[in-house]
Amino acid sequence: MTSTPRSQAVVIPEPSTGPRFYEQTWDLSYRHALGNTTSRFLAGLAAGRVYGRACSQCRRVLVPARSFCDRCHRATGDWLQVSTSGVIEMFTVVYEPFRGLPEPPYALAYVMLDGADTALPGYVRGLDLTDVEAVTKTLAIGTRVRVAFAENSVGSVADYWFELETDSADPSVGANG
Ligand SMILES: [Zn+2]
Repeated sequence: MTSTPRSQAVVIPEPSTGPRFYEQTWDLSYRHALGNTTSRFLAGLAAGRVYGRACSQCRRVLVPARSFCDRCHRATGDWLQVSTSGVIEMFTVVYEPFRGLPEPPYALAYVMLDGADTALPGYVRGLDLTDVEAVTKTLAIGTRVRVAFAENSVGSVADYWFELETDSADPSVGANG
């Protein structure tokens, strides 16, 4: 009876050129199911209202409305209407083009709406974005903005954006043009 000789382990040297890569370009279209909570949140935007859902345990009002609390991992319960006015938590101004996104420059911000416990992301419109230093001051954290709604809703996040909430009671605002 003859037996097949077993392969012996061999020592393979590390490639001397360092890590290797294989480059690919993927172009995928994907259809996301929005689910009940996001669908109702978007319907609210179409009606000019911003809704959040409260966590049944920590009571935080999650905006945009979510099905589950990311902190307690519990299903959310009550729906609450929050203010369309709030403060900038963070922002960025994009000067490079990205496929599928608007022509740069454009500004994005996370805004904590009054009555909400999590920030809503969105575009900030109505700004002159040519001077990045000036924009950084205009969109400073804590700046008040309000939600503006599209006249003709399309049932997506394009239905709203943020605009500066200019305080007419403050004489320094607008005094220098
Ligand atoms: Zn919670």
